[in-house]
Amino acid sequence: DDKSIPLARSAADKLLGGLLPEGFDEKSCRSRYESYLYRRNPGRRPSPHLVARLRMHEELQRRCGPNTESYNRAVQRLRDGGAAEADAHSPDDEQCKYVVSISYRGLGNRILAAASAFLYAVLTGRVLLVDPSNEMDELFCEPFPGTTWLLPRDFPLASSYANFSADTAESYGNMLKNKVLGTDGSTDGDMPAAQMPAFAYLHLDHDYGDGDKMFFCDDDQRLLSNIQWLVMRTDTYIVPSLFLVTTFQDELDALFPERDAVFHHLGRYLFHPANHVWGLVARYYRAYLATARQLVGVQVRVFDHRQAKSPHVVLEQITSCAWKEKLLPEVLDAVEDAAMPTPPTTPHGGSNNSKAVLITSLRPWFYERIKAMYWERATATGEDVSVHQPSHEEYQHFGEKSHDGKAWAEMYLLSLCDVLVTSGWSTFGYVAQGLGGLRPWVMYKPVNITAVPDPPCGRDVSMEPCFHSPPFYDCKTKRGVDTGTILPHVRHCDDVSWGLKLV
Ligand code: GDP
Repeated sequence: DDKSIPLARSAADKLLGGLLPEGFDEKSCRSRYESYLYRRNPGRRPSPHLVARLRMHEELQRRCGPNTESYNRAVQRLRDGGAAEADAHSPDDEQCKYVVSISYRGLGNRILAAASAFLYAVLTGRVLLVDPSNEMDELFCEPFPGTTWLLPRDFPLASSYANFSADTAESYGNMLKNKVLGTDGSTDGDMPAAQMPAFAYLHLDHDYGDGDKMFFCDDDQRLLSNIQWLVMRTDTYIVPSLFLVTTFQDELDALFPERDAVFHHLGRYLFHPANHVWGLVARYYRAYLATARQLVGVQVRVFDHRQAKSPHVVLEQITSCAWKEKLLPEVLDAVEDAAMPTPPTTPHGGSNNSKAVLITSLRPWFYERIKAMYWERATATGEDVSVHQPSHEEYQHFGEKSHDGKAWAEMYLLSLCDVLVTSGWSTFGYVAQGLGGLRPWVMYKPVNITAVPDPPCGRDVSMEPCFHSPPFYDCKTKRGVDTGTILPHVRHCDDVSWGLKLV
């Protein structure tokens, strides 16, 4: 990706071009200021406007976050159901509004959800608070200096929001349907603050309905701006559709002049592995990957049970992709090998002519085959190829501690590679490519599971994650529309044809 000036590797770039704030205790979160030493691709430079907005936002998080007077009053108002006396509103409280991001589904989903909620928080001047469950409190460092982004465990809705669904009465869609709220004049969009509900639940999950989807319309954003607490559930990256909301467009353009690097910056700003996870990343990198001339990351995610039964097809897809795109050298058969002149290698000269492959997968099977292949056979180029896989957890465990720590470490290790081959559809791969600033080669889901797709993989149009369940609605004409054709930089994804991504 040579679209912009990359960051230079200097001490100043410890802060990633001003993206990261100063003033944290470095030992409490070593990854924040050490990771640049491990990155071969320094990544994109954030815009001055993004840097300035982040510093302003940090100030908001400190002023309104947990353990402040404003937070306590806002929570009290939520307990009281929003019906506070008008004169009880201090001017300060008027300025403190919140968006709570529910932690839901796999780690990749949770990271994309938190990044989406954060961008929405910045655009709407709200404080972001993250549901600490599912280990969100243990896997990551605090992103904002001098405060916490974790929702306190005694939050009034804490015992109920885990069960919020499309059916919840307080969902935005249901409140519209039941005329508790309205943008059409039936209940005025500018109804007095005291009559507004204390909170609204934003159901932005894959099964959301037409009412919930109105979230992506300007009038609805105006209405929502009067509600102090918003509780958001999503399992995907809603950002591409935020770019279609007119009210947000000028600000988004200023924040992200490079639209293909939105998650790249949000992710590098927000998600720093906690020390125990950073230990997994740094030790593994130094022990197995650091000396290789080139690092090729291969993320294998097999979603289809039928496909899992024919792993040979997936293996062939990986090797044919890597060979066709010249990411890895081909191997010779015994006859070719015998006919090759012996290349002038020394037993110690390995590192400047070597490639390391980092495989991540729930199973060890692909790793074992690829490793054996590069041991048993010589390569056509004479390069040495070492093959590594940190863990094989066999299946997706839910709510188990070391499991998510390993998953996070592996996503991060993938992001340190020079090139990436990913499995389409996987949010695990999206996070790695975004953090790494890498436009991956994506292995498509085969239509016919018994044959390798042709081509086996393709270069993604950008490093951005794909929004898997975007709305197809035009807020102005109030009709269905293909939202992938409205703006040149919001397009359909290659891996999920109806999805949307920024390019
Ligand atoms: P997605 O399902 O591929 O979109 O990715 P998610 O990260 O949301 O959910 C998959 C979960 O399965 C991860 O969070 C991990 O817990 C686990 N998982 C999937 N692939 C791997 C892998 O390669 N390594 C490890 N350690 N865990 C994985």
